Amino acid sequence: MPELPEVETVRMQLWSKLSGRKIIRVKVFHEKTVGADGGFSRKLKGLTFADINRIGKLLIFSFRNKPGLYLLGHLKMTGQFFFVDKKGKLVGGGHAVSAADTIQFPGRHTRVAFHLEDGGTLYFNDMRLFGYLRLANEKSLQETRARFGPEPIAADFDPEQFADSLKKRKSSIKAVLLDQTFVAGLGNIYVDEALFYAGIKPTRQANKLTRVEAAKLAGGAKIILEEAIKNGGTTFQHFVDAEGKKGNHSAHLQVFGRQGLPCYRCGTIIKKTRVAGRGTHYCPGCQR
Ligand SMILES: [Zn+2]
Repeated sequence: MPELPEVETVRMQLWSKLSGRKIIRVKVFHEKTVGADGGFSRKLKGLTFADINRIGKLLIFSFRNKPGLYLLGHLKMTGQFFFVDKKGKLVGGGHAVSAADTIQFPGRHTRVAFHLEDGGTLYFNDMRLFGYLRLANEKSLQETRARFGPEPIAADFDPEQFADSLKKRKSSIKAVLLDQTFVAGLGNIYVDEALFYAGIKPTRQANKLTRVEAAKLAGGAKIILEEAIKNGGTTFQHFVDAEGKKGNHSAHLQVFGRQGLPCYRCGTIIKKTRVAGRGTHYCPGCQR
């Protein structure tokens, strides 16, 4: 499953392709992807992309000529956005499940196609059908936004408030960081990496962390996410970015997927265990 850095990579690259482009026709191949909204295609026809934002892993497209209408897109397990230009060249991407996904458009897993004025097409592919596209108005967007906690990389992220909130949580710090309503955008990979950065064992009770540890964790989460975005995301399960390139962040991971290998920092063997129902990696030497 893509995490925040992968989705952010897709967002930035889609933006470079879609900015100012007009939708002339929308073809829905699979109704489940767009939900019960019968007017999906009709409402988007004629709109020009104004911006692409993101809340956690949810992409939010807005339009120049229709303020107050938004297109929300979530990749979930296997969703992909592919942009194909008018010459048929693939210049966009998302989350490739197999090489076959990028050969034919529309393909077997294409759920929605957005035909653009200049001949390019944006395809939403999704093999397992957990991903979705939904129209939202200002009110439903605000409701969606309210379900997400603050994001460590947001300009207004407040480490003090983060530390205060931790004091109210008795579950493991790993479980708390995975909870998107508490803090948005950290998935399994980056939670393990942030906890390693801060020297905190994943099983520690959240409310037992000191202020210093909480501050280090907040700072670490930001650094870890920013670095992963810079590297185009981590390549797992054939994730490719919007230009068909694989992310190259996996070489930078300190503990995730490194069980049985010596810690880069102290040489202790990295352990893998299960915390909050998820495979969890940590260094028994560095993390207390
Ligand atoms: Zn170590």
